[in-house]
Amino acid sequence: MQRILLIEDESSIADTVIYALETEGFMVKWHSLGQEALNDLQQDSDYSLIVLDVGLPDTNGFDLCKAIRRFSEIPIIFLTARNEEIDRIVGLEIGADDYVTKPFSPRELSARVKVILKRTTLSSTYRQKCIFVVDAKKAKIIYHQQELDLTRYEFFILKKLLQQPGRVFSREQIIDDVWTEPHASMDRAVDTHIKTLRQKLKQVDESTDPIKTHRGLGYSISGTVSES
Ligand code: CA
Repeated sequence: MQRILLIEDESSIADTVIYALETEGFMVKWHSLGQEALNDLQQDSDYSLIVLDVGLPDTNGFDLCKAIRRFSEIPIIFLTARNEEIDRIVGLEIGADDYVTKPFSPRELSARVKVILKRTTLSSTYRQKCIFVVDAKKAKIIYHQQELDLTRYEFFILKKLLQQPGRVFSREQIIDDVWTEPHASMDRAVDTHIKTLRQKLKQVDESTDPIKTHRGLGYSISGTVSES
């Protein structure tokens, strides 16, 4: 059964949407706050589509859509009440797939959901975007679709951490892999490069720090990775 995430603060509208989609055999999870929905999505990627209201109490649908697009290509249908919002949805590259204007008929919404799901299933474009892409041949690493400007050591350290996101690598393991002639007191060199790496990652995405320091153990990184 396909799961749909509904983000809408008005419960009467949410009820209508849930009823319409459940009648069509979808399972609907409802959030009335944007942040809640974002947390849910980051932990649970098993949704097929999002129905997103533009006007939310804690954020607006446009910002939320952009935040979601940083890590996911899940189809998004906007619910909108005003014409000027339609201009933004259509005009700007927010990354929405479609929109429905309020008041809408439940049947119209279900029909659009089905069209989009059919389209995405056919082209199978819906997949989680990889946060990191490592191109070992060209010695490049892409982070959130941006190529990082890395020094030689930064590149090798980041590549090492990305071998296995979540795994803790000790400084010794990093040194062994990255330096051809390791010598004493190199731990600090690793720390220095990690520091500059963090700054460079932050320039791309201020909101997260994917490198984690494990006291007395080493470093790990979080995120999805693919190789090109
Ligand atoms: Ca609203």
